[in-house]
Amino acid sequence: MQHPQNFLLSRLPADVLSRLAPDLSIIDLIHGDVLAETHGRVEKVYFPHSGIISSVVETLGGGAIETGMIGKDGEFGAMQALDEKLSLNHVVIQVPGSASVISSDRLREIMDTLPVVRGLLIKYEQFFLAQVQQTAACNAIHTVQARMCKWLVRMHDLAGNDIPLTQEFLAQMMGVRRTSVTTVASELQKSGLISYVRGRIRILDLDLTRQWACHCDADVRSHYRRVFEPDRGDD
Ligand SMILES: [Zn+2]
Repeated sequence: MQHPQNFLLSRLPADVLSRLAPDLSIIDLIHGDVLAETHGRVEKVYFPHSGIISSVVETLGGGAIETGMIGKDGEFGAMQALDEKLSLNHVVIQVPGSASVISSDRLREIMDTLPVVRGLLIKYEQFFLAQVQQTAACNAIHTVQARMCKWLVRMHDLAGNDIPLTQEFLAQMMGVRRTSVTTVASELQKSGLISYVRGRIRILDLDLTRQWACHCDADVRSHYRRVFEPDRGDD
């Protein structure tokens, strides 16, 4: 069964997961596909096995900034399934991959009958809120260079070390001008942290990239461990 490739589904007891399995299907996540428009309805819940889903706040005038990143450690759509199924943000596939998917209506029925599913998904939403809050603080106070390094480390952890990415897209995700991204990316290249060739970024020195990153992602990760792996403690 591929479903346990998603961390949240892997946390469910085997008998619970086998009750969910007939309603789950596996789909490809296609780069650029929009899973939800801002204030649009969300009819499905996605549990990625690989790839990255971005939650993006759109501003008047066409600006946008990423406030949350969802990979194999999370899901998108569960909280919307519990309520009016409306998305607060624009939600788009940033790195292709695959996911287990279930209809929002069916997941709501399951959450009503299986408290262990509801409890797990509420825990994740609490974590996701913490990530969004940390990102808001990060965007306000940390430099573009520190934020870009943080972002690259997070991408690396979720999607591996060969990331298809245009600078235009990166600038949009970070809410900064394209020229700022170009300046910082060439600085990172000169210092041997990354290579950037034909729209693909590769981290050459992960330790140094972590050192140059602000501490926001590490804080978010340690919060995740506190929520889901309280016995393990911090690394
Ligand atoms: Zn930061």
